[in-house]
Amino acid sequence: MSKPAELLNRIYAAGLPSVEDLEEVLSWQGRVELGELFVFADKVRKDFCGDGVILRGIIEFSNFCDRECFYCGLNKNNRRLERYRMDKDELSNAIEYLVSCNIKTVVLQSGDGKWLDTLWLKEVIENIKSRFDMAITLSVGERSADDYRVWRQAGADRYLLKIETSDEGLYSSMHPKMDFKQRLACLGVLQNLGYQVGSGNIVGLSGQTLKTIARDIIFFKRGNFDMIGIGPFIPHQDTEFAGQPKGDAQLSLKTIALTRIVTKNTHIPATTALGSLDKDYRLDGLKCGANVLMPNFTPQPYRKLYEIYPQKRCVSEPVGSCRSCMDGIAKDLGRFIDYSKADSFKLTGDRYV
Ligand code: SAH
Repeated sequence: MSKPAELLNRIYAAGLPSVEDLEEVLSWQGRVELGELFVFADKVRKDFCGDGVILRGIIEFSNFCDRECFYCGLNKNNRRLERYRMDKDELSNAIEYLVSCNIKTVVLQSGDGKWLDTLWLKEVIENIKSRFDMAITLSVGERSADDYRVWRQAGADRYLLKIETSDEGLYSSMHPKMDFKQRLACLGVLQNLGYQVGSGNIVGLSGQTLKTIARDIIFFKRGNFDMIGIGPFIPHQDTEFAGQPKGDAQLSLKTIALTRIVTKNTHIPATTALGSLDKDYRLDGLKCGANVLMPNFTPQPYRKLYEIYPQKRCVSEPVGSCRSCMDGIAKDLGRFIDYSKADSFKLTGDRYV
């Protein structure tokens, strides 16, 4: 067996791989080694998740945010950004459209903050659940356990709350007035309430090293998350991190591949950020471990205002050009679009590890 193959097999077989082994793979640059990594990860994806490319339609219903994250264009100190909040009718129309495209998961995402009324979102959830047979994922940041409970009882199925980086010091350096332990506590509460929970990181954050990324992957494994979103950092001109270099596409792909090999059956999206670099790397992501796409169903004119980073993929495409685009991507890969709700493999016990 070649040396790279030996290392990959050891990582695959380990209950919890070592930081050093992961770091070594993350440092690979050669075509042959990277080829082995990506083929290995693609095989693990096929064995544990099959050939279906799962769809999650995302609606970014507000860009108001009370946080000051140094990398994010929605941070409250960005006064250049025009803020919006979709009303119930607008949201309902966007969801009807998404349903008409045969998509069975809606991700409702927004900035964080008290402006988001608990009961308003509860009613939105109840309304969707009473009208459609579909899964609801929330991604509205850190809230109280009571809020999470109310929304879960109203019918929300899943929750996305990325750790961004699992390094507490690094986390604190870019999240003023936020507490790493609080974020961990939120993830624990969400899991205990029975949400399918997604975490993830940003690759290429200032101060991040290969070791930190290796530890992120261990964090993902330990957390037994249902989904892991991995995307490159993209600088935004109106943030503290303006002028920082972009995250590296190869390193993001390596992180995706290793996360697949280590966590086996989690859902891993080829993220919008991965599609928003110098070219669209989402296809590459799907070839090295990813099994999910997240088409954007935020209606214009709001879509261009949800500017977490600039030049976001699909920002000017008309809503609904997604379906043919998604089918095209799956076909190019010799795979198919899975139009089911596609719950977590960990929940359904399907190919459970
Ligand atoms: N308020 C929600 C949603 C945040 S936006 C929450 O806190 O969970 C969704 C994701 O966008 C974030 O989790 C972060 O990983 C990503 N993001 C924000 N700014 C980014 C940037 N400049 N480059 C890459 N990803 C970014």
